[in-house]
Amino acid sequence: MNSAGIVTVSYIAATILFILALGGLSNQETARRGNWYGITGMGIALVATILGVVSRNYTVLLVALLIGGSIGLVLARRVQMTQMPELVAILHSLVGLAAVLVGFANFMDHSTALVGVEKTIHDIETYLGVLIGAVTFSGSVIAFGKLSGRIGGKPMLLPARHWLNLGLLLGAIWFGREFVLQSAAGGGMTPLVVMTVIALLFGIHMVMAIGGADMPVVVSMLNSYSGWAASATGFMLSNDLLIVTGALVGSSGAILSYIMCRAMNRKFIAVIAGGFGTGGGTTASGAAVEGEIVPIQAEETAELLANAKEVMIVPGYGMAVAQAQHTVYEITKTLREKGVNVRFGIHPVAGRMPGHMNVLLAEAKVPYDIVFEMDEINEDFPDIDVSVVIGANDIVNPSAQEEPNSPIAGMPVLEVWKGRTTIVLKRSMATGYAGVENPLFYKENTRMLFGDAKDSLDAVLKAL
Ligand code: NDP
Repeated sequence: MNSAGIVTVSYIAATILFILALGGLSNQETARRGNWYGITGMGIALVATILGVVSRNYTVLLVALLIGGSIGLVLARRVQMTQMPELVAILHSLVGLAAVLVGFANFMDHSTALVGVEKTIHDIETYLGVLIGAVTFSGSVIAFGKLSGRIGGKPMLLPARHWLNLGLLLGAIWFGREFVLQSAAGGGMTPLVVMTVIALLFGIHMVMAIGGADMPVVVSMLNSYSGWAASATGFMLSNDLLIVTGALVGSSGAILSYIMCRAMNRKFIAVIAGGFGTGGGTTASGAAVEGEIVPIQAEETAELLANAKEVMIVPGYGMAVAQAQHTVYEITKTLREKGVNVRFGIHPVAGRMPGHMNVLLAEAKVPYDIVFEMDEINEDFPDIDVSVVIGANDIVNPSAQEEPNSPIAGMPVLEVWKGRTTIVLKRSMATGYAGVENPLFYKENTRMLFGDAKDSLDAVLKAL
């Protein structure tokens, strides 16, 4: 077999492994195996490309691989579980940047002279690759800023923002036409650069306009864009594996965005157009809340738990911050040994990335069969004796149902208040990611266990 044949076979093998990886990742039991499929596929793809496709400049390639690989390794070792979402966002931005750079390099490389329709098609591929890449790049950088708290979570709403977006879109189309025409005559750099600037601005504007609670949709959408950018790059470079891999990422990201939108009860287009999370002009913190805060101590919490028959644990972002999942597991084990039925209720956007809570609970070895999705258990709360809300806020906020003007109005939430007693673990009365006051804390059957979730739970475990 010649080298092109070996490359093709390797690419097919890698593609199959990527598909198996996605299949594996759809389920917690098989996720680890799925990851290995992905790693193996990527390894094969890299080796096949380096040995079979690249023909010179090996020194540059190896140095770049070494630098990039080392940075990746150090980052992956250092990153805290709470920083994962921002890491994902910044990695998306790199995919976008790569697409832009490859697009420009490919455009400036005149070694393969295409003519006629082929040239036009290739130019369109280049243009689209750079366009999607630039939007992905700048959008992801802003998402990184928002997720890491460097940029405020409130949406930035320019007065005529829809018109601005429309203008940018029309501009991108017009310059695309210019680019193809000028490129045929040997030019085209100016429209390509202008479009890149437009796309960068569009990416910034799009993500800046998105309000706190809608960020999950944006992250998965940028994930999807990064896939399409890679796919367009694949067309540009005539690399089949890149086309397929990009399409896999693009479509799985799109499906995830759809799922997240459904979870948030939002329309995809409305999220992209931005402006959710503003509360239609009212203050983002929502209406004033009536009622009294009733604190509780760890010993009393332990007593309530030990005497309960049905316990529901609702983890949120604060559990990740406190790294309390291991103590949660110990408490769960102790209670189950006492005959208490302990279950977990997971909101689809709990934490700061899709599946955030599931990952933490799996890490702490909480059995999968007691971990439930919101839809599966939301109707069970009236039968629950004690709900323990661990560092969650937005996902258990009744104002999503009760207050039409709330920035999170319409978002499905876990209805913990319908149970007998709710114990909320958090450090203060601070709001969650969406910046909305939470009437749950003031309800008659709610008790507040103040303090770092890990410290509080350690004390509860001790008392148990
Ligand atoms: P929230 O951000 O609403 O609330 C987290 C709460 O945890 C805070 O109120 C905080 O209160 C508390 N907390 C923080 N640190 C600790 C600690 N060490 N110990 C105890 N408590 C702590 O989180 P939720 O999980 O309820 O909701 C997720 C939010 O994030 C949603 O608005 C969602 O849209 C958004 N989001 C989700 C993404 C995803 O993909 N899942 C991505 C981006 C955003 P205090 O400071 O008083 O302790």
